[in-house]
Amino acid sequence: MKGFQAQELNNIIEIDRKKCKGCDSCKAFCPTDAISGKYGAVHRVDSEKCIFCGQCLVNCPFGAIKDTVDTVDTVIEKLKNKQMTVVATIAPAVRVAIGEEFGMEPGTLVTEKLYGALKKVGFKILDTNFAADHTIMEEGSELIAKIRHYILGEPTEHHLGALPQFTSCCPGWVRYAELYYPGILPNLSSAKSPMMMAGPLAKTYGAKEIWHVNPEDMYVVAVMPCTGKKFEASRPEFASASEYWKHHGRTGHYPDVDTVLTTRDLARLFKKLNIDFNNVEPFTDADNPLAQYSGAGTIFGNTGGVMEAALRTAYYVITGKELEVLEYTPVRGLKGLKEASVTMKDAKTGKDITLKVAVVHGAKENLKPVVEAVLAGTSPYHFIEVMNCPGGCVNGGGQPINPMGTSWLGNWKAILPWS
Ligand code: SF4
Ligand code: SF4
Ligand code: SF4
Repeated sequence: MKGFQAQELNNIIEIDRKKCKGCDSCKAFCPTDAISGKYGAVHRVDSEKCIFCGQCLVNCPFGAIKDTVDTVDTVIEKLKNKQMTVVATIAPAVRVAIGEEFGMEPGTLVTEKLYGALKKVGFKILDTNFAADHTIMEEGSELIAKIRHYILGEPTEHHLGALPQFTSCCPGWVRYAELYYPGILPNLSSAKSPMMMAGPLAKTYGAKEIWHVNPEDMYVVAVMPCTGKKFEASRPEFASASEYWKHHGRTGHYPDVDTVLTTRDLARLFKKLNIDFNNVEPFTDADNPLAQYSGAGTIFGNTGGVMEAALRTAYYVITGKELEVLEYTPVRGLKGLKEASVTMKDAKTGKDITLKVAVVHGAKENLKPVVEAVLAGTSPYHFIEVMNCPGGCVNGGGQPINPMGTSWLGNWKAILPWS
C-alpha cells in the first residue's frame, strides 16, 4: 500500500539537519533504502519508503535521528485528569530494557519495579502477555484450519489465507510486505498483534468488568520497544472497541490504542514525574486478571517466541499432546534464519504431518530470500515468523540507546546463540 491513510502517522523518523554528519552509518541499518544523501552531506529519510523501525535511530553514532512522536506530556495530563482511566499495556521486551535507562545492566529483568512505578504514577495495568495469548490462539487456530484444508485435504467453507503462514505482529514487517511485496499479503496471519488485541480488551471487557468505567473515559497507552508500533496504533482500521460499543447503544469513535510510548519515552515520563525507579516499591500481586504476567512471557520479545507458541497450540489441538522440545538449526549462509521440523500424528485420521517452520529476524539481510522463495513457490516452510529488528523486539528502535550501537551488542550471545 503506497501513500498513507487518513489519520495515520506518516513522519515518525526524522534526521536533524543540524546534527547529521553525513557519515552514512544509518544506511547500513536501513532495511528499505529509505535514507538518501551523499557521504559528508546531510541525509534525509523518505517516509514513503520508511517502515518506521527506528534501526537507523538507535545506530546513528551522532544522535542525529529522532522519533518525532512525543506524547509523554499528553499522557501525564491524562494521568492527572481524575475523569480518565489510564491503562498501560506493557510489552515483554520493555521490562528487560528499561532498567538500562536507570543505570542497570542491559538485560536486567525489572517487571515488578516497572509495575510498581506504573502504579505509583496512576496507571491501571493490562499485561501485553495476556493479550499475546489471544494473538496466539487466533494465529494457532488459523494455522490448524490451513493444515486441515491444505495438507489433510479436508473441505472448508471459510476463506483461508495461503500457506506458508507468516506471523503479522511486527508492524515493520507488515509495512515492508505492503510496500515491497504486496503479493505476499495473503500469506500473513489475519491475527492482530498483541498490542492491538490489548486495546479492545481494555476498552470492552476491561471497561465493563474490571474498571467499571465508560470506554470513552479510558485512555490506553501501549508501552513498546518499537517506534513502528506508533504507526500501527494510528492505523484507522484499529477502532474495533468503538465499533463493538456502537452495537451496544453507545456513540463515539475512538482508537483502540490511544498512544504508544517507547521504552525511552516511558523512562522520560518517570523522570519528569520524579520517580526514583531504582527504589520504587515492587508490585507483586496482579490486582486484576488482565494484569497477570509470567517470566516465561518474556520470550515473546525474542525471536521465535510468537511462532513457537502458536505452533504449540496447533500441535496440541491436532495430536492431543504437548509438543516437547523444538530444536532449531541455523540455516547455512543466512545468519538470521533458523528452522525446525515437527512431525505430528493427526488424532482424527492417524495421518502423519511434518511441518517445517522458520524464524527470520533482521530484515536488512535476511528477509528478501525468504519472501522471494515463497513467491516463487520454492519455500520448504509452512509457518514463518518474521521480526524486522536484529534479534527481535529486544533490539527494537524504541529501546535504550547504547553508546556502542544497539543495546543488543551488550548481550548478543544470549540473544543470538547461533551467531
Ligand atoms: S548515521 Fe546519523 S550522522 Fe551519520 S548520516 Fe546517518 S543521520 Fe547522519
Ligand atoms: S526507520 Fe527503519 S526503514 Fe525508516 S529510515 Fe530508519 S532504518 Fe530505514
Ligand atoms: S521486531 Fe519488534 S521492535 Fe522491531 S519493528 Fe518488529 S515489532 Fe517493532
